[in-house]
Amino acid sequence: MPEKVDTLIQPKLHFMNPSLIRNFCIIAHIDHGKSTLADRLIETTNTLDKRDLREQVLDNMDLERERGITIKASAVTLHHDFQGQIYDLNLIDTPGHVDFHYEVSRSLAACDGAVLLVDAAQGVEAQTVANAYAAIEHDLMIIPVLNKIDIAQARPEEVTAELEQILGFHPDEVRQISARSGIGIRELLSHMIHSFPPPSGDITAPLRALIFDCKFDEFRGVIMFIRVVDGDLQSGQTIQLLKSQTAYEVTEIGHLRPEMTSCKKLTAGQVGYCIANLKSLDDVHIGDTVTNPERPPKLALPGYQQPKPMVFCGLYPVESQDFEKLRSALMKLRLNDASFIYEPETSEGLGFGFRCGFLGMLHMDIVRERLERESNIELIQTAPNVTYQIVFPDNSIQTISNPQDVPADSKIEAFHEPIVRVSFLLPTDAMGSMMQLCEDRRGVYQKTEYLSPLRAMLIYDLPLAEVIYDLYDKLKSATRGYGTMDYEVLGYRPADLVRLDLLVANHRVDALSTIVHRKQADRRARRLVQRLRNEIDRHLFEVIIQAAIGNRIIARERIAPLRKNVTAKCYGGDITRKRKLWAKQRAGKKRLKQVGQVEIPQRAFLAVLDNQA
Ligand code: GDP
Ligand code: MG
Repeated sequence: MPEKVDTLIQPKLHFMNPSLIRNFCIIAHIDHGKSTLADRLIETTNTLDKRDLREQVLDNMDLERERGITIKASAVTLHHDFQGQIYDLNLIDTPGHVDFHYEVSRSLAACDGAVLLVDAAQGVEAQTVANAYAAIEHDLMIIPVLNKIDIAQARPEEVTAELEQILGFHPDEVRQISARSGIGIRELLSHMIHSFPPPSGDITAPLRALIFDCKFDEFRGVIMFIRVVDGDLQSGQTIQLLKSQTAYEVTEIGHLRPEMTSCKKLTAGQVGYCIANLKSLDDVHIGDTVTNPERPPKLALPGYQQPKPMVFCGLYPVESQDFEKLRSALMKLRLNDASFIYEPETSEGLGFGFRCGFLGMLHMDIVRERLERESNIELIQTAPNVTYQIVFPDNSIQTISNPQDVPADSKIEAFHEPIVRVSFLLPTDAMGSMMQLCEDRRGVYQKTEYLSPLRAMLIYDLPLAEVIYDLYDKLKSATRGYGTMDYEVLGYRPADLVRLDLLVANHRVDALSTIVHRKQADRRARRLVQRLRNEIDRHLFEVIIQAAIGNRIIARERIAPLRKNVTAKCYGGDITRKRKLWAKQRAGKKRLKQVGQVEIPQRAFLAVLDNQA
């Protein structure tokens, strides 16, 4: 949508004075009020007209609005009048869920300060701690803020004590606000300008701008979101992206208010967007440095560590002719979310599809839902697994993201799996049951830290495979919803693992192979064949389901054949009733895949997910 020219930026200056700029983000545990605070800041600074304001304006993806969570980080420039000067406050809204750490750390690299928001009733949670540590690592100035002080259950003194106990903030530093009712918002704005350092870039130095995000727009192509660190960037100039070494002409630059508003020039310290004649999605790397080829800088910006996907699954179109459509949908999504990866794969049962890698389970759900929604393709998803390392007798190592690729047992010298350090924040009365759960999942106890007599942080090292499926749900039920968790990857460690295969009517269904601990193999095999028996409909012939390790069958179930044709019930003559029944059966066939003679529903491909198995 055509942009209005931003007249609020002082037009007479050749550059925006960096001492009048603050770049900051809001970090918090999920639901502690980041998006609501962003709304209030936008409103208080009159950035949007009242009529354009709706709740959580920055969460502009449908999925974000429906789920009530922030998935993509977004930026907005606020103008704030403080002691007679107009300041530019660049707010970068970040998601708080464990799977989106990558987004959080990207946003942090573009900021100088962070507002650490804590729900005054819920108190410090697992991601409060994780995000605070991430901000400290990026050398950000942190303002701790209690939110929701308007609600009756707020317990500001206790939560302030928690912040002091676990993160070392002095009680005097902690501010109190209500993002919903607006209490303390103006004071917070002034405090931010006062406390956060202005950007430290050099306006006269060669151009260096950090690409902290980008997206693909149907009409305008690639849109990069940037923070100019040094020098300036002008509309019409030539730029070079350091990684791709290709030159492009800038067609438009501007501010995010939060809609795109074009301008002529962005100078050191400013945040905005940049559109160049970038056609190939592969030319943009988030974290890359934008430079001027006529005046190249000595050093690139540090950029980001590329995140490593740890959770993989197969995605297959239900209709095989949708394969190419799926490929282009994946390409587009990948530009918007550099943390997920994909490559084509084939499966005997499912045909042509893609092996996709994600940072975690929620990330996987979100990507699948976005794909289905944004490109209108129905997908079959295989059960997720983590990545493994196989060590061969000659000491070579192969990283495996698909159970099908595991070689025969005899060829393996050692099997390594990823281990994560999990921190749980929970009421002390749930400690016993949580420790039991972790022990059952091969966890190794590390330590306990108390925030108060009633709340503690419990730390365990666990195999990632035992964490991703349902540990979060288990934590929620063990703590009646009061527990939270976060994890960081420690590395790979040896474990006694085997590949468990499933055979349906003597066909090995490659998409149903899983990797399990040898000790659990028998129990899981029995549960899995039972689950499959329940999920697969009866056929006109007998269907045998078996589980095997190598050539050894360790569990078996049988589905008895159907006796009669169901349409026989319709008195032979009534053709309209028969047609209706056939139509219903056809609809029911959606999300079925044919393996040999047997039809297997989508649910069955997820049966291996059941951790009780
Ligand atoms: P986010 O996940 O951190 O972005 O959290 P949201 O901004 O989406 O807020 C989560 C929920 O808390 C929403 O239902 C908000 O309306 C509510 N909320 C946020 N701030 C306040 C506040 O100051 N007071 C009250 N009572 N509710 C709030
Ligand atoms: Mg939000």
